[in-house]
Amino acid sequence: MELWQKQLSQSAVKVKDLPFIPESDEYRKKLEEVGENYPIRINSYFLEQIKSPNDPLWKQVVPTLEELDDFVQEDLISDPLNEEGDMPVPELVHRYPDRVLLMINNQCPIVCRFCTRKRKIGFPGIVTRETLRQGIDYIRNHPEIRDVIMSGGDPLLVPDKELDRILGELRSIPHLEIIRIGTRVPGTLPARITENLCSILKKYHPLYFNMHFNHPSELTPEVEKACAMLADIGIPLGSQTVLLKGVNDDSATMKALMQKLLKNRIKPYYIYQADMTEGTDHLRTSVQKGLDIMKDLMGHTSGMAVPYYVIDAPGGGGKVRLLPNSVIEHTEEEVVITNYEGKVFRYSQRNWNNGSSNGSNKSTPQNQDMCQLPA
Ligand SMILES: *Cc1c(COP(=O)(O)O)cnc(C)c1O
Repeated sequence: MELWQKQLSQSAVKVKDLPFIPESDEYRKKLEEVGENYPIRINSYFLEQIKSPNDPLWKQVVPTLEELDDFVQEDLISDPLNEEGDMPVPELVHRYPDRVLLMINNQCPIVCRFCTRKRKIGFPGIVTRETLRQGIDYIRNHPEIRDVIMSGGDPLLVPDKELDRILGELRSIPHLEIIRIGTRVPGTLPARITENLCSILKKYHPLYFNMHFNHPSELTPEVEKACAMLADIGIPLGSQTVLLKGVNDDSATMKALMQKLLKNRIKPYYIYQADMTEGTDHLRTSVQKGLDIMKDLMGHTSGMAVPYYVIDAPGGGGKVRLLPNSVIEHTEEEVVITNYEGKVFRYSQRNWNNGSSNGSNKSTPQNQDMCQLPA
């Protein structure tokens, strides 16, 4: 058994295995109920990284009684993004014109308490050989699909041989240009990134990784080494972060995370506003919080360190990017903007050659159509 398999097999999966839980029998009994609604898993590597109760790692993976309260909130639902509604075949989401999300399995190295797929993760028998075959056939039969995101669950928990087979089948589809792997493995079970895994992955370029990091303390020396192995075999590394109350909902933490990612050759890609998933309400923040954080990042640190902040639109509208307001006024004559220091600048749209504004010049489109600045 390899180290990562051992760490997985020694996961905390029961209330009695959890760190820093109050002694009270009543509390523990109620917590068992939470675990029945939504499984617990913290692999032994990640468990070791949790240093104190309520620390940013603890909050992400240790259940609390608030998860039960959340189930009665009526605007919170089990499938907030309506993924089931966009599945032409089981476990494949085809929402955008040219790309699909394919669930490879439904196990994860840790089970996040805020998971958008709380309805599926950790329950056996959802992703099968048959659903996978149907998914791959669907991609093969739809030439408009040029990009697949392998997700789950976590694709990297699939054994090497099986992963090699799946990647090989996907690569044999001529119109599929890029393959992306969405994974939390490098940050939560770094021992899984072995030489053998790397020798498999590098056969399937262009292969992109979208990893998941929520707090700078997740980037331990082991994790940094795992990410370096992936970068060294030429995989462009990206990261997604979920905005979470008490974990990363302050600018200093978020900035430290983004800078630490870049330092490790990982490009921050998305910050997600937390989805309206039942059982996760206690971890959600306001949207204003996210906008404030973006304002504190933009201009204040490397542009490369600033991801897109998105709401994945409830009901299946897809990701919508949000920006803090930088346009004060926008007329045919001019655009008034504000920079990261709050200073105000005027950009004239007058066309000095013919003495009129662009808006009245018939040879160019109306500026309102050309220039989709955020409102
Ligand atoms: C996020 C997502 C994608 C990929 O979106 P990009 O913006 O291209 O990264 C594709 N399909 C689904 C269903 C998604 O949720």
